[in-house]
Amino acid sequence: MNQKVAIIGGGLTGLTAAIRAAQQGYEVDLYEAAPSLGGRTRSFFHPPTQTWIDNGPHLLIGVYQRTQALLKEVNACSHIQWQNTLALPLWDEQRGHFSLSTSDKLPFSLALIHAVLNMPQHGWTSMPSLIRLAISMKFSQQGSVSDWMSRQHISAQLQQDLIEVLCLGAMNEPMQHADAASFCFVLQKAFSKHQYARLGWFNKPLSQALIQPLEAYCQQLGVRIHTSSRIVQLKKNAQDYTLHTHQTQHTYKHIIMATSPSVRNQLLAIQEHLETQTICNIHLWFQEKVELPHPFIGAIGCYGQWFFDVSQQHQTHSGLSHICVVISADQSTFSKQEKLDRVLQELKQISKNPKLKPIYYKFITIKDATNVVRSHQKSTMPEHIIDACEQPQSGELPATIETAVMRGEDAVAQLLNLLQVT
Ligand SMILES: Cc1cc2nc3c(=O)[nH]c(=O)nc-3n(C[C@H](O)[C@H](O)[C@H](O)COP(=O)(O)OP(=O)(O)OC[C@H]3O[C@@H](n4cnc5c(N)ncnc54)[C@H](O)[C@@H]3O)c2cc1C
Repeated sequence: MNQKVAIIGGGLTGLTAAIRAAQQGYEVDLYEAAPSLGGRTRSFFHPPTQTWIDNGPHLLIGVYQRTQALLKEVNACSHIQWQNTLALPLWDEQRGHFSLSTSDKLPFSLALIHAVLNMPQHGWTSMPSLIRLAISMKFSQQGSVSDWMSRQHISAQLQQDLIEVLCLGAMNEPMQHADAASFCFVLQKAFSKHQYARLGWFNKPLSQALIQPLEAYCQQLGVRIHTSSRIVQLKKNAQDYTLHTHQTQHTYKHIIMATSPSVRNQLLAIQEHLETQTICNIHLWFQEKVELPHPFIGAIGCYGQWFFDVSQQHQTHSGLSHICVVISADQSTFSKQEKLDRVLQELKQISKNPKLKPIYYKFITIKDATNVVRSHQKSTMPEHIIDACEQPQSGELPATIETAVMRGEDAVAQLLNLLQVT
């Protein structure tokens, strides 16, 4: 075939598109503005601890089938630690540690009922809500997740212990703003069988677990990777496009856009209102051993929503203990010191260790962590430009690793269709 294609953006979407395009015989140039690949799934070297730390810890769901297939192809399947069946470890001040744990001895729907029955302060009182929720999941939903919950009279306890936690995790938005149609779609897919509902986490930093295997495979396939190469201008010619970095310019017939939608709009002069959500990650290191009872814990009614035991996830048993506290959709106006004090206080309770004092800490706040699900008109792309940017519509899957892989693969499928038509 020997057609040239340029991919702008070297995050997971761009890397996936590069692999699939190269496999189809395209000559691929991948442009990444940063000095290294990975985008939002990137890791940094943290000199004080001499370790690699992630932009933010990532959880996966068993339903991420295309991610798993891609990782299998690049021999990186073993980099994910999967639960056997869904277990959601939770904590709150009153009940302490408890969990939503499903038994694989029962079909998933019965296992979920059984799991809710066994949660403290639930039992049979949660049953009517659970049944209404299960029935309503079969129909398309409108408005916000909160609207959906009130329409179905879902009990406040079930909303707090199940829906709110899952909604923040999956949609990175509180229930009041999160799109009900998309969240319903996630639940339908994930809650269809044990294998899909279970959770997984990377057992090494993202750069090693995910990005390096993909980058190595790209190189094996002959993809030319240009890091520190920000595309600053995209110029349309009669038959093709010229891509400008500060140093170079090259011409391509086909372009796949795998940046954020805001960069795409800037390069293509599209005017559009975009909405993103923040994620704040507070990394803490301790000299003493801090081991949480689970690799991650959802904290209910706390400022820190997820407490990740990174040392446990990465099985680094020597040296410092590393905990990362995640606050999704952080709207607070607390100072950094106040945030630190709050999560530390919560961690002391969760770990039952009142004397904890971190020797290092690092805040990583990502303002545009996710492009949130909204109803919007998709912009029409100029000819030969394929849009693979993250901009989920109402009813579609929210912004995740899986949808990045899907967008990368679907962009190349679109490219092939385009060539068949022309
Ligand atoms: C803190 C955090 C936690 C998350 N947690 C989870 C989770 O638990 N589970 C989950 O499934 N998902 C999670 N996500 C979402 C997931 O990381 C993203 O949806 C996914 O990585 C998006 O990949 P992408 O390639 O589409 O975009 P990006 O990773 O943003 O890649 C875009 C790339 O384009 C590059 N770029 C921008 N402008 C230019 C330019 N002009 N020229 C060249 N290159 C350019 C950028 O540098 C970047 O590398 C999380 C995200 C964050 C930030």
